[in-house]
Amino acid sequence: MDRIICNNCGAEFDKSEVKCPHCGFLYAPGMEKKYMGDLEKTREKLDVVDDEARDEYKDEAKKSGKKVLIILGVVAAIILVVVGIAKLQDYLLFHEKISAEEELLWQQENFPILDKYFEEGDYDACFDIIYDKKNEDHHFWDWQHYEEFQKILDEKFESVTGGESG
Ligand SMILES: [Zn+2]
Repeated sequence: MDRIICNNCGAEFDKSEVKCPHCGFLYAPGMEKKYMGDLEKTREKLDVVDDEARDEYKDEAKKSGKKVLIILGVVAAIILVVVGIAKLQDYLLFHEKISAEEELLWQQENFPILDKYFEEGDYDACFDIIYDKKNEDHHFWDWQHYEEFQKILDEKFESVTGGESG
């Protein structure tokens, strides 16, 4: 160990001492060393605290990130449920209007009438039935002459709008 002579009393003491153990005279290099040592220790402690704080912050960020994801998930689920219910209601309302059974009965009753008019060439009568407001929800596309009738309507329409010469 390095020894030093006290400037005040001449006693010998260790270099690492802050002051002379005999007279109490302050020893500057020792003080500085101790101070720097303490500073280093403090800094190490602060680093540890800093690391801990950073880890905590990371954990906190992870947690809050998870929270945000959970909230987003819940919101998305709610939207899906709401949209799903609305769609289901639409579907039920549409199918409540006329059940398949009712539609079939209606067709069995009315399609023969349409067939009769169609075969007689009374397209106006067919038109009146198909475009009657009270029949608007029925499935006329199931009628055997529906496509044929649409073609006839198109031709009639063309002859009315473009057939000045005919
Ligand atoms: Zn001394």
